[in-house]
Amino acid sequence: MSESQLKKQVALFAKLVWDRKLTDGTGGNMSIRNKDKIYITPTSTIKHFLTENDIITVDKNGNKIEGEKEPSSERRMHIKIYEKASDVNAIIHAHPRYATSFAVTFQKLPVYALPESALVLDPITYIEYQMPGTQEFADAFAKGLEEGSRVFVLQNHGVTVAGKDIEEAYMKLETLEFLAEVSVISKLYSGINEIPTEKIKAFIEFFNKRGD
Ligand SMILES: [Zn+2]
Repeated sequence: MSESQLKKQVALFAKLVWDRKLTDGTGGNMSIRNKDKIYITPTSTIKHFLTENDIITVDKNGNKIEGEKEPSSERRMHIKIYEKASDVNAIIHAHPRYATSFAVTFQKLPVYALPESALVLDPITYIEYQMPGTQEFADAFAKGLEEGSRVFVLQNHGVTVAGKDIEEAYMKLETLEFLAEVSVISKLYSGINEIPTEKIKAFIEFFNKRGD
């Protein structure tokens, strides 16, 4: 894909995240990696209005190469994730309301409550509060990444998901928020039943063989 197409993808998925209410106000940031370059959303913008011309190009140290506005203040987090995970080429950080309520209460999501969430989200890493935008915040992702996590719940803040491409990252965000919303609703009834671990393992095995 060309640079222009990849920037268009960043803008398109940022708009989708905002339009689906998966982030708030000017919150959240998204990026795609293309070899040594990162295309990232600018700081302080309402994602609904983004076009490919607004997407900023930064190098692997976060220095701006191209673009009018300033790159997202969370670029250190994006750089850290790309550095640590060679399989990751797209990242979405957002503040979806139900998943963020789990971040605020810092409760674990019942990831085995749904087959899809077990398949797509597990293992989730829960990161204790760090000041957004700082190097400490970025560094806090290292351990979870090494352990294979690509989904992060950030205490008193929001969530970050990473994927091999932007579609995969986006689907993780949707699956995460769906699980969080269904969990909150389920708690209003009798509580949450999770699928037993052996049945989840059987499903993942079955899914991987079926391949769709
Ligand atoms: Zn944030």
